Amino acid sequence: MFCEIVAGRAPATVVREWDDALALVPLGPVVDGHTLVIPKQHVADFGEDPEVSAAAMRRAAELAAGDRPMNVITSRGRAATQSVFHLHLHLVPRAENDGLALPWYSGHGRRR
Ligand SMILES: [Zn+2]
Repeated sequence: MFCEIVAGRAPATVVREWDDALALVPLGPVVDGHTLVIPKQHVADFGEDPEVSAAAMRRAAELAAGDRPMNVITSRGRAATQSVFHLHLHLVPRAENDGLALPWYSGHGRRR
């Protein structure tokens, strides 16, 4: 899916483009300003190629410049809530009491 966007064969709202990455508005943004940073080179997740992961994080940092509260979230594997198997970093702007439950929120109390 993201390779198709990089190749220009699938539509996307591109926020910013670099030689090595794209920033996109996700299909279902959870808050205003929710953005995805994807490397143009296909890797499945952040563990596949440290150089590609580092380059994607660099672009995320450029987009996040300033002091707006924000999460950077990336996942590997279905059990970790990954649903698209092309590395992507979610930039999620946050606000006090915004009620957003992050992907690692289990809804359960801590187990012993
Ligand atoms: Zn891909």
